[in-house]
Amino acid sequence: MATISKAVVKSIKQYGEDVREFIIEPEKYSFFDPGTFLQLALEEPKGNRWPDSRNFSMASFLNDDKTIRLVIRKIGVFTTRIFNELNVGSTCYLKYSFGDFLLPFYDNVNPIVCIAGGTGIAPFLSFAEYLKSIKKESRMFLFYSAKNMEELIALNEIKRSIASANLHVYLTREIHSDWHSGRITVDNVVESVSSIVNAHFYICGGEEFTSTFKKQLTALGAENIYTDEW
Ligand SMILES: Cc1cc2nc3c(=O)[nH]c(=O)nc-3n(C[C@H](O)[C@H](O)[C@H](O)COP(=O)(O)OP(=O)(O)OC[C@H]3O[C@@H](n4cnc5c(N)ncnc54)[C@H](O)[C@@H]3O)c2cc1C
Repeated sequence: MATISKAVVKSIKQYGEDVREFIIEPEKYSFFDPGTFLQLALEEPKGNRWPDSRNFSMASFLNDDKTIRLVIRKIGVFTTRIFNELNVGSTCYLKYSFGDFLLPFYDNVNPIVCIAGGTGIAPFLSFAEYLKSIKKESRMFLFYSAKNMEELIALNEIKRSIASANLHVYLTREIHSDWHSGRITVDNVVESVSSIVNAHFYICGGEEFTSTFKKQLTALGAENIYTDEW
């Protein structure tokens, strides 16, 4: 059963003009699987009615601080309200957790290859924290594309959780000596795995980003492809 909880905003970090990281502390902190999402409402629920809300991926895993990280891009009416109304100390309301964008259930060995576009990094931050917590971080490969350095979310945490040989960052609108320039290609991705058939490919980003990689990986023989698109 989903947990419904009031939550307080503990900190906010801005990435570029339109992306913010919110660290929130729910009053009721319950177990959630990495890769799942919550529903965030700004008004207090009254009776059985759940107020207007939007879905956001858990961008962290269970931690001692009992907080949840959210990474939110301002694109429409509701996310503009979030940016205007949620400050440090503000309250919001959560219902969690939901979703089927989950790590492989039976396979504890084969690579987990994550392909993120922009705020699509969110569920992979929780994968990375979880895999590190069970000392399986070497299974995770991350291909992460962002516009520029300013929009690279939680880069220090990513570097702490994922081995540098497994981390492939692509900047589409900035040249930086540490990272690749341009877009991720499917060839970049498949080079990282010895068996396309056995690897697990997770893709999260916009509709075109997700469908292009899914189509290309399928054509190359990938059998385990999981997508989350917003
Ligand atoms: C499972 C799941 C997980 C998600 N996780 C995240 C997450 O971690 N982070 C995140 O940021 N989002 C996430 N989303 C998307 C989020 O739930 C909202 O749907 C999204 O942010 C739309 O925000 P909105 O309500 O402000 O837009 P709305 O006002 O409802 O607008 C809907 C759509 O209209 C378009 N639109 C409206 N206004 C504008 C504008 N001014 N400029 C350009 N386009 C516009 C956009 O395409 C927008 O998606 C997730 C969605 C799902 C289903």
